[in-house]
Amino acid sequence: MSIEIVNVGKRFGDFVALDDVSVSIPSGRLTALLGPSGGGKSTLLRIIAGLERADTGKVEIEGVDATRLPPQKRNVGFVFQHYAAFKHLTVRRNVAFGLEIRKRPKDEVRSRVDELLALVHLEQFAERLPAQLSGGQRQRMALARALAVEPTVLLLDEPFGALDAKVRKELRDWLRRLHDEVHVTTVFVTHDQEEALEVADEIVVINEGRVEQIGSPDDLYDQPANEFVMRFLGPVT
Ligand code: ADP
Ligand code: MG
Repeated sequence: MSIEIVNVGKRFGDFVALDDVSVSIPSGRLTALLGPSGGGKSTLLRIIAGLERADTGKVEIEGVDATRLPPQKRNVGFVFQHYAAFKHLTVRRNVAFGLEIRKRPKDEVRSRVDELLALVHLEQFAERLPAQLSGGQRQRMALARALAVEPTVLLLDEPFGALDAKVRKELRDWLRRLHDEVHVTTVFVTHDQEEALEVADEIVVINEGRVEQIGSPDDLYDQPANEFVMRFLGPVT
């Protein structure tokens, strides 16, 4: 199983954001979409999420043709860089939101939310409002919320981009450990080579609307597909 992107093209007016992209993102792994700003990473992620419609091509998620499915039918969880929580709801209610709108039984919601808050280490903050959390804690809440409905795929767009270096590093390690616990297929966007190399199992290098290479961090170092990948990853330090 996998996420299959087949001949996906996307234009904004005359500008080609994605140019006939085909890539197979493996299941159960932590995959980074890595590349310079403006390369089309977010556009590709949004097309996988169903938030943007491709002009051409096909998107298959775990064996299901999702090309024409709306976001809510794709079973994906989504976390953005600037996370918009419900400001007037507690952490608990924010995490419960997706379950409540699906009318899940109250006791089921409560135990599932307890489990999620424990997973992201926010048990003691359950009754706080989002404004009373640090930036890193808010992103952890966002992740718990995305995981609440048991998505088959978790999509993160520069989830730690807005945070300071120390918190970024902590969250990075934490995402790695979380993934090792839940094994949900996870795709995250980053322009930070170090972040991708340290955290991801697989890296998809994207530049100017094209996939330059996909491989493990070792693959990219040992056998960079071209000059661009070699230059972008930089010297081994
Ligand atoms: P990345 O995430 O790699 O930085 P994006 O996917 O956000 O890149 O954007 C790729 C290119 O497409 C950029 O040049 C951006 O300006 C352009 N673009 C993205 N979304 C839109 C849009 N809604 N309208 C017009 N241009 C867009
Ligand atoms: Mg982006």
